[in-house]
Amino acid sequence: MAARSLELTFLGATGTITGARYLLDTGHARVLVDCGLYQGFKQLRLRNRGLFPALPLDAIVLTHAHLDHSGFLPQLCRAGFRGPVYCTPGTADLCRLLLPDSAALQLEDAAFANKKGYTKQHPATPLYDVEDAAQALRQLVPVEFGERFALPGELHAGFTRAGHTLGAASLRVDDGVRRVLFSGDLGREQDIMMAPPDSRPHADVVVLESTYGGRAHDGEDPGEVLADLIRRTAARGGRVLIPAFAFGRAQALLVLLHQLRRARKIPELPVFVDSPLACDPSELYAAHPHDHRLSRETCEAAFAGVTYLRDPEDSRRCSESHEPAIVLAAAGLATGGRVLHHLKHTGPDPNSAIVLAGIQAAGTRGATLASGADSLKIHGRNISINAEVAHFDMLTAHADQHELLGWLEHDDAPRHTFLVHGEPEAADALRRAIEEQLRWPVSVPDYRDHVDIHAL
Ligand SMILES: [Zn+2]
Repeated sequence: MAARSLELTFLGATGTITGARYLLDTGHARVLVDCGLYQGFKQLRLRNRGLFPALPLDAIVLTHAHLDHSGFLPQLCRAGFRGPVYCTPGTADLCRLLLPDSAALQLEDAAFANKKGYTKQHPATPLYDVEDAAQALRQLVPVEFGERFALPGELHAGFTRAGHTLGAASLRVDDGVRRVLFSGDLGREQDIMMAPPDSRPHADVVVLESTYGGRAHDGEDPGEVLADLIRRTAARGGRVLIPAFAFGRAQALLVLLHQLRRARKIPELPVFVDSPLACDPSELYAAHPHDHRLSRETCEAAFAGVTYLRDPEDSRRCSESHEPAIVLAAAGLATGGRVLHHLKHTGPDPNSAIVLAGIQAAGTRGATLASGADSLKIHGRNISINAEVAHFDMLTAHADQHELLGWLEHDDAPRHTFLVHGEPEAADALRRAIEEQLRWPVSVPDYRDHVDIHAL
């Protein structure tokens, strides 16, 4: 029996690339698609706190494990949500790594803020703790790619590969009347490590990401550009600091560094990965061989010759050292975590370099750095930025406009396409391209907009 109604409400990733949250309401059941943390501007970050408008919920589905899609889950579990959280096996494995890490970084940040007394919030409290993250992990229900599964409210769903990070999926939900397809974050046709996205499933309504909706990735070889930067920085005796944004890009960089070292294009420098739960992810990649292009040998060679700094004391020593090195430090988008301590020491050093890889959400320190700012506010103090700042867009795990259009284009046009997960210019550029090239109905929804899917 078909459900009587299906309403879609946009509760995140509207006008921004963070906080992905989309609510499907059948009148009998409420299912949240993605459960992401907001990062960037304070008015957005405030949506991580307080009462979440979608509660109570019957189930959650995650398209992938990056924190802007999963990082709000422990917070909902803290608020009492105990329903199933469906995701692919790769996403479940990554969540086991990322959610406790996110909780640990937040605890470290809050403890540091309280010790130094720079917080405006008294006392600084983390959004959630390690136990909330553990509770979230107990609710994960892994479902293989291509398997049809039931959701509350007589909905059915299935995952296809999105090629963006381990386990990353597009999700199609079907209520017997309409099929709604959520692209999730879409990867690239030719990525250094990820397999390309599956072709787009048939759908009546498509919710499409637009991170790079206004851009064409140029064909520059990321290896050559990175090698140049590392050689330059090493010659000055500086260090290369890389904020370790989303899981997958840090690993792509390690693979690239391994290739450059083997080809003798960069000098031998120690490589540090700094995060509370940092570890060799070789086993994780070996467990999901169809998600990526890397051999076990490449993984082991790229990930083994690296020093993982889990202990906060080791992290502190590393951040205060001025020895030449390559440092990947958590967390992403330079919004918090250990990377701030590294930025305080590396930022003022004109011999050093900071590498921003991929898109920097507006309102984050990453975006401030990318815009060429000469100082950055960290822990209540203005830190001058004299280091060379390089922004490597070609290392992104997101499709560009051409690839997004290529994925979307299909013989059967959807009744409507909604563009989410983009800054306003990017979403609008993609909207124009779809209107001009495909002549399909398309719009860019606002926060809390809701749509009657059956009326489309
Ligand atoms: Zn992502």
